[in-house]
Amino acid sequence: MSVWNRVDVTTRFSELPRAFYTVVKPQPLTDPDWVMWNEDLALQFGLPPEPSEELLNVFSGQTIPDVFAPLAMKYAGHQFGIYNPDLGDGRGLLYGELRTLSGQYYDVHVKGSGLTPYSRMGDGRAVLRSSIREYLCSEAMAGLGIATTRALALVSSQTPVRRERMETGAMLTRVAKTHIRFGHFEHLFYTNQLAELTLLADKVIDWYYPECRHTDSPYAQMFARIVERTACMIAEWQATGFAHGVMNTDNMSIVGETFDYGPFAFMDDYDPGLICNHSDYQGRYQFDRQPSIGLWNLTALAHALSPLIEHADLERILSTYEPTMQRRYSVIMREKLGLKQSRAEDSQLFDDLFQLMAANHVDYARFLRQLSNLDVDGRQPVVDLVMDREHAQQWLSRYLTRCAAEDGGEAEQAMQQRCTLMRLKNPKYRLRNYLAQIAIEKAEQGDYSDVATLAYLLAHPFDEHPEYHHYAALPPQWGKDLAISCSS
Ligand code: AMP
Ligand code: MG
Repeated sequence: MSVWNRVDVTTRFSELPRAFYTVVKPQPLTDPDWVMWNEDLALQFGLPPEPSEELLNVFSGQTIPDVFAPLAMKYAGHQFGIYNPDLGDGRGLLYGELRTLSGQYYDVHVKGSGLTPYSRMGDGRAVLRSSIREYLCSEAMAGLGIATTRALALVSSQTPVRRERMETGAMLTRVAKTHIRFGHFEHLFYTNQLAELTLLADKVIDWYYPECRHTDSPYAQMFARIVERTACMIAEWQATGFAHGVMNTDNMSIVGETFDYGPFAFMDDYDPGLICNHSDYQGRYQFDRQPSIGLWNLTALAHALSPLIEHADLERILSTYEPTMQRRYSVIMREKLGLKQSRAEDSQLFDDLFQLMAANHVDYARFLRQLSNLDVDGRQPVVDLVMDREHAQQWLSRYLTRCAAEDGGEAEQAMQQRCTLMRLKNPKYRLRNYLAQIAIEKAEQGDYSDVATLAYLLAHPFDEHPEYHHYAALPPQWGKDLAISCSS
């Protein structure tokens, strides 16, 4: 019996009117080969843990099981601040929605599946390099507990794809709570399709925000939830040091999942001015601008929802974004620093740490992980990470005084408890660009072992894994300034 008869699939998006999509068949890859099959995720859907020929044929576009109804979604969006009406799935198809064993539906979307009516100048393909980056990054975010799309399958092929050079064609199967983006609403608003705009809002409420349905103002409540989830997602990015790179409104999910991984970076040295996208000439999506871009994008969404929600309500809801994000960010940072209580002096303590790190080019994640090992390693390894040791000692003394202030009597025991908790919040393993680069170069030679090792470590980034200690090494000089562009 086919695996597809044993899982629960719907095609509810395909039941929407044709204004929302075009039916498109995938163009298969030639001689496909498994790179990754996400066993843990597969099990959540009741899919077999083992990759098989049958699954390879599906996730390389050779066969389409009857349960699916592939389609290319139509959307628009603001790209680098400029409205582009001509977007849509240019190289990916929504196959349908797959139910987890716990009862939640997830979109199954295959990226790199060939031309669609929305391909514009593109070839409809994805290359192995960027597909590996998306696979690893989405799994890394999941491992960190940050809301994200996930990667179910990655297939490479003999299909050549031209970018700056000839590359290997690949297909990535992504699962996500939804593929509905801010840009879906923008498209319907700017083309004046008000019945469809209302229908989409109703579907979003039914599918993702059912708790808003029986309230006085379901659309306003829905928008408030989108604002809240987006604010929380961006707070997580800032606290973990993640730069998305292309925060266009077509890359913003309406359920606040990190979405569409391109030239992203997890920062190495602490640098609020990090611009990870080589094509972002103005630094619009620079790391420390992400919070305000989040608000800009939500404002664009508010505009698109203005036929459904009173202006004053939109304004009021938008004004909750910043405090929500700040609150969530403070909670996460306090957890990362192992502080249970909130005290007036904390924001100064945090700011001084950020300044110390920026001035001394301190590796952000390494510092926080070493701080989490104060109970076993003591102060010196923390201080050794900072060139200006005197200031590092001063900051550390203030930090320890602050810890002591909430610890009471059993100082040593309290510190051990604190550090144990901090090691669950400050990962040892991180998807540094240089690690991804090494794994990609091996994969392009047909050796996928490093992709698998990284995927495993990033799924469990807080554990020690002593045998893989070298994967926690700081970047070599060549790996510090890798240029990653939008080309993928
Ligand atoms: P992205 O920068 O990946 O978010 O893509 C922006 C838009 O360009 C989306 O509508 C994509 O579907 C489309 N796109 C990106 N790459 C390709 C490609 N190789 N072929 C066709 N469309 C593409
Ligand atoms: Mg995109």
